[in-house]
Amino acid sequence: MENKKRKISIIGSTGSIGRQALEVIEKLGDKFEIIALAGGNNVELLKKQAEKFKPEYICSNAPSPRAGEGWGEGLTILHGSEGLEQICSNKENDIILVACSGKIGLKPTLTAIKNGIDIALANKETLVMAGDIVMKEAKKHGVKIIPVDSEHCAIHQCIKDIKQVDKLIITASGGPFLHKSIEDMKNATVEQALAHPRWNMGKKITVDSATLMNKGLEIIEAHHLFGFDYDKIDVVVHPQSIVHSAIEYVDGSVIAQLGLPSMHIPIQYAITYPERFEGIKSKSFSFSEIARLDFEKPDFEKFPTVKLAYEMGRLGGTATACMNAANEEAVFAFLNGKIKLFDIYEITKKMCDEHEVIENPTIDEIFAIDTKVREKTKEYISTIS
Ligand code: MG
Repeated sequence: MENKKRKISIIGSTGSIGRQALEVIEKLGDKFEIIALAGGNNVELLKKQAEKFKPEYICSNAPSPRAGEGWGEGLTILHGSEGLEQICSNKENDIILVACSGKIGLKPTLTAIKNGIDIALANKETLVMAGDIVMKEAKKHGVKIIPVDSEHCAIHQCIKDIKQVDKLIITASGGPFLHKSIEDMKNATVEQALAHPRWNMGKKITVDSATLMNKGLEIIEAHHLFGFDYDKIDVVVHPQSIVHSAIEYVDGSVIAQLGLPSMHIPIQYAITYPERFEGIKSKSFSFSEIARLDFEKPDFEKFPTVKLAYEMGRLGGTATACMNAANEEAVFAFLNGKIKLFDIYEITKKMCDEHEVIENPTIDEIFAIDTKVREKTKEYISTIS
C-alpha cells in the first residue's frame, strides 16, 4: 500500500465479518484510517468500536444514539439508509467494506460505485439481486470489486489473465449434513443446522450452508464477478475447507488457493489488495499436518438448492432476486421453528416456479420483486405452519 493510510468505511461493522475486519485493521496498525462505521441495532458494540477506532461518522439503525448522548465530540451520528447513502457518497473513502447482510447492502454499494470508490464485497445479495447492474456500473466508473467471500477471494487470487481461464471450480464444505441421510436432514433441529463443522458465521449463512443454498448463491456471485457462463462454473465438495476454490486454465492446468479456514485472511486480502501483509496470520501452513484433502461430487438430490440456483442463474433477470428473497424468508421461518429444514428448498422452489421473470429489471423493479416475493413467501408459510 502507498505510504499514506488507506481510508476505509465499514458497512456492517457489528456483524461477524465487520468485527473480524476491525481485528484485521487493528493488527495492521497504522495502515488504515476509518472514516465511518455503520452497524445495525447493536448500539453498545458500535459505541465500543467508535471509542476504539475513532471514525468521523457512525451510522446506526436504532433510534438512539443521537448526538450528545455521550458519544464524544467530533463524531457525526447518522441513521438508517440515508446515513448509509451519505457514507457511501463520501469520496474521502478509498475503499468501502460492505459487510452487512441482506438487501440493505445493495443501494449503498451502488452509490459507492457511482462515486468511484472501490468495494470490498462481503454482501451476497448485492450480486445475487442485481449483479448485472452492479458490474456494469463498476465497469463504467472504473471501480474494483474485490470479493471477501473465501471462495471468490480464492478465485481472485488464482486468476492472472482471465482470458486464459476456462473454468471456475468452487469448493463447498458440505455443511453439517454432508454424510447424514436425507431423513436426518428433514428432521434436523435449528441447533443441528447451526453446528457448522468448519466455519463460524452468522445464523442465516450457516443455515444456507446446511442446505447448500450458500453455494448456490456463490455460483451466481461468481458468474457476475468473473463473467463466466454457468456451465463454466463447477462445484466440488471438499469437507476440510483447505482448498478455498480453484480455476482451470484452457490447457487443463489447475491453480487452487489453499489456507486454513479463517475469514480474517480473505478480509485482509480484500481491503489491502493489491498488496499483502503478514497482518493477522496466525500460523504457517503445513501440508504434512493437514495430511489429506478429500473431494466429492455434490449430491443434488440431497442438496437440490444448488440445482435451483443454476436454473435461476441461467434464467437471469429477476429470477435470482426471487430465489434469494424466498430463501431468506424460509430460513427465518426455519430459525423461528415454523418449518423444517427441507421445507426451505420446497418453499423457495415453489416461489421460483411461480415467478414471472423480468428480463432487464431496474433497481426499483428488483426491490419491488423482493418485497412481493417476501410477502408471498410469508403468506404461504403461514398456511402450512
Ligand atoms: Mg463462502
